[in-house]
Amino acid sequence: MTKYIFVTGGVTSSLGKGIISASLAKLLQARGYKVTIQKFDPYINIDPGTLNPYEHGECYVTDDGAETDLDLGHYERFLNVRTSQANNVTTGRIYQEVIRKERAGDYLGKTVQVVPHITDEIKRRMRLLGESGDYEIVITELGGTVGDIESLPFIEAVRQLRWELGNSDSLVIHLTLVPYLAAAGELKTKPTQHSVKTLLEYGIQPDILVCRTEHHLNNDIRKKLALFCNVNINAVIESIDAPSIYDVPLLMQKEQLDKTVLRKLKLSTRNEPELDNWKAFLEKLKCPLHDVEIGLVGKYVELPDAYKSIIEAFIHAGAKNECKVNLRFIAAEGINEANVQSKLKGLHGVLVAPGFGERGLEGKLEAIRYVREKNIPFFGICLGMQCAVIEFGRNVLSLKDANSQEMDPDTKDPVIHLMADQKYVEDMGGTMRLGAYDCELKPGSMTASIYGKALIQERHRHRFEFNNQYLKKFEKAGMIASGRNPDNDLVEIMELPDHPFFMAGQFHPELKSTVANPHPLFVSFVAAAKKQVLENR
Ligand code: GLN
Repeated sequence: MTKYIFVTGGVTSSLGKGIISASLAKLLQARGYKVTIQKFDPYINIDPGTLNPYEHGECYVTDDGAETDLDLGHYERFLNVRTSQANNVTTGRIYQEVIRKERAGDYLGKTVQVVPHITDEIKRRMRLLGESGDYEIVITELGGTVGDIESLPFIEAVRQLRWELGNSDSLVIHLTLVPYLAAAGELKTKPTQHSVKTLLEYGIQPDILVCRTEHHLNNDIRKKLALFCNVNINAVIESIDAPSIYDVPLLMQKEQLDKTVLRKLKLSTRNEPELDNWKAFLEKLKCPLHDVEIGLVGKYVELPDAYKSIIEAFIHAGAKNECKVNLRFIAAEGINEANVQSKLKGLHGVLVAPGFGERGLEGKLEAIRYVREKNIPFFGICLGMQCAVIEFGRNVLSLKDANSQEMDPDTKDPVIHLMADQKYVEDMGGTMRLGAYDCELKPGSMTASIYGKALIQERHRHRFEFNNQYLKKFEKAGMIASGRNPDNDLVEIMELPDHPFFMAGQFHPELKSTVANPHPLFVSFVAAAKKQVLENR
């Protein structure tokens, strides 16, 4: 019998529901429970694939090709398990399914309504992963804030599910803010009280309160929250601002969130969490022996959430190398031939980020030319790989017009062109080359030695690809296709064997980096950057 934990949020957004859910899951997993997390988002987009990163941050892609909320990235990074399409559901997807059934005549002449049809579909989806039999505990995070119009059907579905499942098989954790009023020198409980009242109006009594705060909650505050929100005092959990998201599982353990959850669900608390590897990672993260400066050249540099997985992959790879990675975000648009040297000054490595559209292309090419010529470690991801190919085409192969058809559909030298199966695609949503594909590594290449194996799987999200008509020219001039898709021969990785580190992949390695398994390409890139530091000392 699967147990269900629902996580709701109140007072404001951005309280870190995803991190709290992932941290709780980590603690339960570390006690030996099989846990998964799913996220329900109350917006009408079918998935976040069509959203501008400025709206919701990065779009996280799963092995099965789902374009999902970036919180799924946290789940994978914390738990080291794979998520899938079933782990992220939006209002849009719920309505799409209900409307499909209505058109098919499945409702037998009934009026189709939010209650029960939409809520039934939400409940069906909420139980789906639990019914697979693979998990003992399913944590369901509800996006949005309690009280929003959009969240209502989800809250109602949770109310019904709790009723159906019963008290020892389900519980609700409500995450709120306990603000500190500097002028009064006090923590304030009122917003939490109001937010719990709103939940009560919808028929949900939270079992546990997780209170985000900048200052420790003293006993009086805890008592007050317990009394006014009808929860046990040990169910008032402090979630204090942490130096890193990776500290949060240990903070939650200190607050006994996992124990309180297990007791309420009538599950054994016998096994203490086994967190030795997690703690070893944290230790390395906190006491680095070296410092490297890495430039991230991209388009969305004002909003780091757009590059969430890349940032986290650097944290994992940095810890592995006992290195603090200082990321410098550099707007590609601002780079030109005259200033490239000063813009990239002091960097031990440069990453050119994934992205869409022409903005900043010339700046990216300038940055790549510079690091290629100066032997500074380079890592290109997706659009970054395509840029590395264009740069090499223009400056080494003297194909002055070399370009991607994305930027110039009529270019004379389309070194990057539209994939054959993309030519007749008209819809924007869910139509890219998405998800995990095999990639065969060239024996003896740098890439093969980094991965230490011949066949890998990496995740994709793109429409354009390397144009194989140019491959001979590139390889003759020294840029080698060291990774190919064995089924369709698409070039997946380009490298320059004569460069200290020049690696460019059509896929997104950052999506598979976890605390337990830092991604080998990131680890090697940081190692190459560290080598620069040591050599220049
Ligand atoms: N815009 C490029 C393409 O569609 C690269 C996409 C990306 O970087 N994710 O092929």
